[in-house]
This record gives sequence, C-alpha cells and structure tokens, in this order.
Amino acid sequence: MKQFQIVYKNDWTFCEDLGKIEQWRAENAAYATLFRIYSDDMDLGHIRHVCDLLDEKMPDALYLGCTSNANIIDGALTDANIILTCTVFERETTQIKVLQFPFLEENVKEDVRVLKEYCDANPWVGAVEMHATIMDMSMREFCDEMTSLRSDIQVFGGGAFNPDMDDETAAVFSKGNGFLEHGIVFLLLGGSDFHVYSTFISGWKPLTRRFTVTKADKEILYELNGEPAFNVYQKFLSIRRSDKFFSNTLEFPLFMDHSGIDLLRCPLAVNDDDSLVMSSDMVENATVRLAYGDPATILSSIRHDGQNIANFQPEIIQTFSCAARRAFWGDENISDETILFRSVAPTAGFYTHGEFIRIGGDMLNFNVTLVIAAMREGEPKNSEIVNISDSKLDNIESDRLPLIRRFVSFIETTTAELAIASITDGLTKLYNRAEIEKRIRSNVEELAQKETSCDLSLIMLDIDNFKRVNDVYGHKEGDRVIMTISDVLRKVIGEVESSAVGRWGGEEFMVMLPNVPMERAVELAERIRTEFSSISYETAGCQTVSLGVTQAVKGETADTLYTRVDKALYIAKYNGRNRTVQLVKTDE
Ligand code: GH3
Ligand code: MG
Ligand code: MG
Repeated sequence: MKQFQIVYKNDWTFCEDLGKIEQWRAENAAYATLFRIYSDDMDLGHIRHVCDLLDEKMPDALYLGCTSNANIIDGALTDANIILTCTVFERETTQIKVLQFPFLEENVKEDVRVLKEYCDANPWVGAVEMHATIMDMSMREFCDEMTSLRSDIQVFGGGAFNPDMDDETAAVFSKGNGFLEHGIVFLLLGGSDFHVYSTFISGWKPLTRRFTVTKADKEILYELNGEPAFNVYQKFLSIRRSDKFFSNTLEFPLFMDHSGIDLLRCPLAVNDDDSLVMSSDMVENATVRLAYGDPATILSSIRHDGQNIANFQPEIIQTFSCAARRAFWGDENISDETILFRSVAPTAGFYTHGEFIRIGGDMLNFNVTLVIAAMREGEPKNSEIVNISDSKLDNIESDRLPLIRRFVSFIETTTAELAIASITDGLTKLYNRAEIEKRIRSNVEELAQKETSCDLSLIMLDIDNFKRVNDVYGHKEGDRVIMTISDVLRKVIGEVESSAVGRWGGEEFMVMLPNVPMERAVELAERIRTEFSSISYETAGCQTVSLGVTQAVKGETADTLYTRVDKALYIAKYNGRNRTVQLVKTDE
C-alpha cells in the first residue's frame, strides 16, 4: 500500500494533491483507495466541503473520519486543522468496507450485531478500525458485545474529540453516510495479502498506594475505600472543584487493574456528592492507584514497542493517541512519542478521547494510552529493519523536562519512604504492631486455604526485668538494650525465608516463621536467647529474654494463636525467666 499525507490548506492546493495521487494511481498497480480525514476545526461545514471535493474529484475513493483534539501527520503534532491520509492499496486481494451507525447506549447491541454478521459473512475481514463519539456514554456493553467478534479479527481505534477538552461535541462521518454527532464508523480491512499489527503503549506509572473501588456504577466512581472518590484528588493533588476539573486532573489518571492489565481512567468531572465522572467504566472491588506520566518510562516503552512495530515492517502506521498525553507533554514535546515511527513508515492519526484495542479476544477501552496499528500488504519489502534504539530518544531523555523528571523522582522517593515509615517502628526499624499483625493474619488465612498441611510457627519474646534497666541505668540505656535485641532478631531470623519480626509493644517482640515447624522454631528461639544474653553492656551488664513458641493449627484464627504464644511466654516468666517454653494446641 502507498500512503499520501495531505494538509488541507485551500481548494487549490488540495486539488493539486489529489492530482498527484491520480497520477500515481495511473502509473502503478492501484486498487482500493481510502482517505482518513481528521479535523480539529469543529465547523462541520468546512469538513463537509472537503468531503464534497473528494466526492467530485475522486468518486471511487472511500473516505471516513472524525473530529479530533488535534492531528498527527508525518509522525508529529500539526497545527493544521484538517488533514487527510490517502492509502492506495496495491493488491487486488485487499478489501475495505465502511459501516457507519448511530452510536448511543440503546444502539450498541444492534450496531455490533450488524458488524458481526458482516464479518461472519465475509471471511476476508481481518481488522476493524473504529472511530466513534464516545463521550457521555458507557463503553462496557459495547466492549462486552465486541468480544463476540470472530476471534482472529484485530480491533483498534479511537474516540472522536474536540480541540476544547471541556467540550463534549464531536462527530464522525464517512462517504455516503453523512455526519453523526453520536456515531461510530467501522473500517473493515482484510484480504490474503493484508497484514496488521496492533499494540498499545502507556508508560504511566503508579504514584500512590492502592485504593479499592467500594462503590461505582458504570463510569460514575462514587467511593474509594469507603470515602467519596473526589477526596483522593483533593487530598493528594489539592485539586478543587471547578469547571476546568478535567484539564486539571487528566495528567493524574487512575490505574485500574483489569485482569492483569492496568487500564487508565481519567476523571472528567466532580458531582455534587463528591463522586467522579470517569472517562470510562469503573468496576467495583477493583483496585486503583493514582498514576503519573514519567517521561523516562514512556520513552523506554516507546523504544521497546516501537522496535516490535519496526520489525513488522509496515507500510503505514495509524496512531490513536490520547489528548491527555498531549496535555501532559505539552505541544513542544508531544511529538517525541510518535516522531521516531516516521523512519519506519508514514505515520498519521489524531489525539483522541479514549482508545480501543482488542487483546486476546477482550475489547479494551483505554484512556491516556497510545494505540498503534501498523499495516502492510504482502511480505516485508525491506531487507533492513529500522533500528529504533538508534534514534534520538536518549538525548530527549537527558536534555528535556528536567523539572518534571526531578519532580517524579522526588515523589517516587517520598512515596517509597512513606510506605516504609508507615509499616516500621521508629526505634527498632522492625515492623510495627499493625504490620506484623497484618502479615500473621494473612499467613493464617493462607494456611486455612492450603490443600496440604503446612507449618507456621510464632515466637513471642519479652526482655526480663526491663523496668529495672530503665530505673537503674536510665531510659537511654534501656533504648540501647531494645535496639540490641532488635539486631539479634534481625540477624537470627533474617536467614529464615518469608519470616517477619515486629515490635509488639514496649520490650515485647513477635516473630512469624512460615514453613518452619515447632522444633526448628524452638532452636531459633534458643539462639536468640543465648546470643542476646552473651552481650554485655557497659553499665547494665548482661540482660536476658524469655520466649514463648507455638505452631499454628490449620483452621484456627490469629487470635487463638496469640493467646497460646502469650501463654507460653507467661509460663517462661513464671518458671524463672531467661528460658524458652513451647506450647502446642490442645483440644480443650
Ligand atoms: P518482666 O521480666 O516480667 O517482663 O519484667 P519487666 O520489668 O520487663 O516488666 P514490664 O513489661 O512491666 O516493663 C516493661 C518496661 O519497659 C516498662 C516501660 O517503661 C519500658 N519501656 C517500654 N517501651 C520502652 C522504650 O521504648 N524504651 C525504654 N527505655 N523503655 C521502654
Ligand atoms: Mg519485660
Ligand atoms: Mg513487657
């Protein structure tokens, strides 16, 4: 296939461009001819005028298109309002077909049914490229219905948009079908010589801890962790309610885990009840995190996936890139994401409101993502594959956006530090009570679910006559003793895989030992006891600990386990301290 790229300037230059295409078609093997038209000029009269010219000058050519946030031509953002790509197919076997439907929630089932029927009756269909107005609409039913398409058909595309991010008006159109403000255009492509490779690139990174979606209905996100969803944006990003909410938040979308794939979702608006209108459906019980674009991650994923695209040796590259990415990079830098593709094949497309791709039969509706469809007729022509990693990306990484890079690095470091601080004890740096309890509870639950029997032992220990250390040698010396037993615990228990040690309270500690039977736990307890008692402090001399040991029984709760290990420790104290006592579960 041969691709021409046209910027519509005026009728005269446009007709000249069409003349060149005509000439090429006359001199080469030319079959179906297809125009894709993207316009960020929202005056439909202007687009219609271009379509009328096409109808008149090249009546056999098919065309379709949509309004956009901005257009991509020659691999880069352009300020041209109306752009066209013209693909001339060079194989007689390649077939294309355009289907256009009204697109509202009540039409979705019927639209997909007709599409599916067409695809079933036409085995040549190998790919469906879609352009749709999707604002104000839940995509869940559409995505569900699309899974019924023949499993070998690739689907990709994007949502029509508006140059004003806060304006919901958009339109799609195609030859002979007119313009629809609520519409979907399917471009069906295929044939024995037609090949397509579709993929997606995100590069956004999680920024915060996980929140659980506790209440959601379609694209309305009511609650995260039982609190109004807006609180998260207010608290972490100081984002206030305003009519520019969408443009303020789109650089900070939410990652939603969808069976292992992180789907990005942008908040579009905040309701009076502090619920959020999201760019696409939210799923109850899913976990989400605030996400942030990290330029280095974005560019490295582009380099990685870009090479796969180059290896495919396409003749054209269609890009559906989210308008949020443009807002994130800014118009100066946004083209860094796509410009390297032009050394592979003519690259064009538009900035979208929502991106679509079918993966493993599942139809996914993304946001803040770059969906790419690379196409080719016949076998690869070039003997040499373009090496993407040779491109200028490295310079971009080191020269550009230093403030954002440093800011992201600052956030990552702070987040990591806070995550550690929230689970550790300040004095000993061991886990705090909440964290060790959480870990024990999850191990006890895991034990209950396991088919085969498995060991889980606990050691609880308490420094002997510690009050006296404080009283006689002072609180500072007491702290030193607490830190020393912590070091001993770290040393002895650190060698045991999956083990965890926490400060239970004052001078009491809890050790969790998964996959460790009672006898070995007792050995470890004795090592702790003897190592600690062999340390001599300058002023306080030698100190001792008492230890209780027990092993969990399948089906019991963490609480009964604590009671038993505490009882073992009590017996050790009662029997004279500086000793280890083990206690097994009895039936009473
Ligand atoms: P026993 O052998 O029965 O455990 O006697 P004990 O003196 O150790 O008894 P108890 O548990 O009542 O005393 C613990 C003391 O530990 C009381 C408290 O003041 C002290 N303590 C708790 N946390 C800290 C700490 O962070 N630093 C210091 N220096 N002392 C602490
Ligand atoms: Mg004590
Ligand atoms: Mg105590």
